[in-house]
Amino acid sequence: MKYLIFVFVLAAIFSCSNNKPASDNSNQPASGDSLFSAFENRFIDSYWKQNPSSAIYAGYGKYYDILKIPDAASVKSDVDFSKKYLDSLHGFDYASLSTNNKIDYRILENQFNGTTWYSDTFKQQEWDPSVYNIGGECYEIINNNYAPLTERLKTLSSHIAQADAYYAAATTMIHEPTKEHTDLAVKQNKGSLEVFGSMLQDSIKKSSLTQAEKDTLLQRAIRAKQAINTYVSALEQMLADKNSTFRNFRIGDTLFNQKFKYDIVTDYSAREIFDKAVAAKKYYHGEMFTITKQLWPKYFATAAIPADTLQAIKMMIDKIALNHVSPEHLVDTITKQVNDLRHFIIEKDLFAYDTTTPLKVRIMPAFMSGATIASASLTGPYDKQGVAYYNISDLTKVPKAEAESDLREHNNYTLQILSIHEAMPGHDLQGWYSNKSRSIVKAVFGNGAMIEGWAVYTQRMMLDNGWANNSPEMWLMFYKWSLRECCNVITDYGIQCLNYSKEDVVKMLKYEAFQEDAQIAEKYHRATISQVQLCSYFTGATEINALRDAYQKKKGDAYSLKDFHEKFLSYGSAPVKYISDLMLGQ
Ligand code: ZN
Ligand code: ZN
Repeated sequence: MKYLIFVFVLAAIFSCSNNKPASDNSNQPASGDSLFSAFENRFIDSYWKQNPSSAIYAGYGKYYDILKIPDAASVKSDVDFSKKYLDSLHGFDYASLSTNNKIDYRILENQFNGTTWYSDTFKQQEWDPSVYNIGGECYEIINNNYAPLTERLKTLSSHIAQADAYYAAATTMIHEPTKEHTDLAVKQNKGSLEVFGSMLQDSIKKSSLTQAEKDTLLQRAIRAKQAINTYVSALEQMLADKNSTFRNFRIGDTLFNQKFKYDIVTDYSAREIFDKAVAAKKYYHGEMFTITKQLWPKYFATAAIPADTLQAIKMMIDKIALNHVSPEHLVDTITKQVNDLRHFIIEKDLFAYDTTTPLKVRIMPAFMSGATIASASLTGPYDKQGVAYYNISDLTKVPKAEAESDLREHNNYTLQILSIHEAMPGHDLQGWYSNKSRSIVKAVFGNGAMIEGWAVYTQRMMLDNGWANNSPEMWLMFYKWSLRECCNVITDYGIQCLNYSKEDVVKMLKYEAFQEDAQIAEKYHRATISQVQLCSYFTGATEINALRDAYQKKKGDAYSLKDFHEKFLSYGSAPVKYISDLMLGQ
């Protein structure tokens, strides 16, 4: 199941790079917000029709029966679709639109230009065989309760009817892939076979399909599995063949900068962010050593402090990390923590927070578990319930040594930072504001750097406002946690643009960011198969802090942190750059 989870994550990330055309006859110039809203509604529906797989992940509820054959014609049709809608968009008078629609306009413009760039310049469809995988969307159709099971299975049957054509097109599209993405495609597609195994059999048993419908579905599932196996064999053969040529997984400076521009949407260049991350690392080390010296007698009595500052810091971190809850108390502790965090943001008047905000702490559902100790589940753009979940792993069910290592990493201090980041006032609270803004464009094309940047921003904001009473242990652990965010940037940009070797990266993460071997291996792998995403946390937080400073200056005596938060969050999950322009009145 481990690979399966990864399939879904990637599919969600990549879904924004796949588009194609539908009918829209409104090329006449128009202005005014009602016309713009009508345009958005028309666009969104044809966007899902163009991208049926993405519609499934978004929970749109329509076009699930369609499986788009990913051939050259479909790539062209995606580009045509984007160009056509870009033209329609440019028919609107930007200046006449409301603030909210101005942001939507810019999000859509970036989305359309980005789609063309992804297809024509980045060409991931040629070198990344892992973009071809039907497992995740089929899993969603079977398990997502958007319609009665019997109906879902009929939809699945239509969806997979063309699976062989899908994988045949995929094989044709691939040209000189990277070895890393070929490996990934093999693993993930093998994982997808599970979807058509016992999970499907069980669902069929519970359904009221007719015998003929069952037979057809089972036949198609068998053919889909064959198609996946054929694809996997072709990739494995490519990997085994000494004469195969693979391209370097490093995309290089030019493409990285362009991707940075489309994915993050910021005025900072990738290099500027890299330089800031290097400076942040140095600053954190300085602060950490100061705290280590201060705490040394408390934890090490009269033992001499090592001359090597990084070694001294590491010893202090290891000592403090021994303070952690037992696996049995993890869920109780976190539940209480979230409650305390809620009260804290009210007492300190940091948000116009209303305690009816639906946030539930729950044991992580089985299909998500195994990857991380805790996570936020946000409500999707079409989810009517509007409940955000803070999912906690049940560590009583994992081997003792593994749980111990997880709990040292998420000790009494970092566990609080995790809850701030994932839940309150990080992801779950931001997601709630985003839902409240009720903008479908902002929800569908949510900006990852804004979302992650917000969660990172709140970590320090809470400590600055007195959460944990300035405990030196908490600050030390906070800096350790923050090293991860700046080292993500250094790792990503370093590998992709500066040719950093695996050894460079491993050494940095181990000795300068104090990470564990398993964590380092996972991070390095992630940095070889993704680009830019690892920069989003640090970049987003950097932008939010800069915006807050500028906003404070602008407002003068009228400034309050609560007002800043309320305003900032009211725009939904839009790029920080667009929000900045509006908040600063440019
Ligand atoms: Zn322990
Ligand atoms: Zn996050």
